[in-house]
Amino acid sequence: MEASMIRMTDPVTNSTAFLPGPVLLLGAPGVGKGTQAKRLMDEFGIPQISTGDLLREHRRNHTPLGMMADELMATGQLVPDDLVNQMVATRLTEPDTGRGYILDGFPRTLNQAEWLDGQLANSTLPVVAVSIVVPERILLERITGRLTCPVCGTIYNRYSEPPLAAGICDREGAELVQRADDTEPVFYERMKAFEAKTSDVIEYYRAQDSRFAEVDGNLPVDEVMQSIRATLFRLRHYTES
Ligand code: AMP
Repeated sequence: MEASMIRMTDPVTNSTAFLPGPVLLLGAPGVGKGTQAKRLMDEFGIPQISTGDLLREHRRNHTPLGMMADELMATGQLVPDDLVNQMVATRLTEPDTGRGYILDGFPRTLNQAEWLDGQLANSTLPVVAVSIVVPERILLERITGRLTCPVCGTIYNRYSEPPLAAGICDREGAELVQRADDTEPVFYERMKAFEAKTSDVIEYYRAQDSRFAEVDGNLPVDEVMQSIRATLFRLRHYTES
């Protein structure tokens, strides 16, 4: 890929900036995909598309998809591919995706990965996949300690990244919430789904060396962010000037 394709003029700021294009964040539950997607969104000005967040919104709004997904999500199982693919297809038609986006939690099955490749076959930049790796023994604490601001989406951890005042968002002052599926039994079900289905997705991208990289997610949040940022520059053959 030519660097000139990446060094585009940003239509929003009119400045020449690095645009990472479509990026996939892969990894087990709790590796920090959501946290890092939000950082990348701030850094590059491109949207985070979290299939988990989109599905939770459907559940809150009691749409047919939300009602169908309800039980599956509550028990840590995957929502059927066709439904999730359709939801992603709709989201990708929105204009804010034109400069790239960060897919968080998608694809989670080989079928979803192949569907996405088909969908993006004619796009200027191929997707690049970054797999975040954290030892499993650390993940449980991350998941059961996770708290999210319902207003701005900032993610905290009651053990490792606590808010300044217990249970309250530093930015919004809103009461933090715990996801209903962030419990120990559901965590193990989600890990099972990850091992049975999503580990194949990681191998699918790993086999395509030019668009895959692994980063260590067991480091402070900012260090992981810098490592992902450097990885994206490398995968897109971009040199900072
Ligand atoms: P997450 O917020 O990414 O941890 O996702 C929460 C739950 O939403 C998962 O445990 C699944 O039940 C469902 N889900 C999210 N993304 C997908 C996907 N790509 N395919 C199937 N189910 C998904």
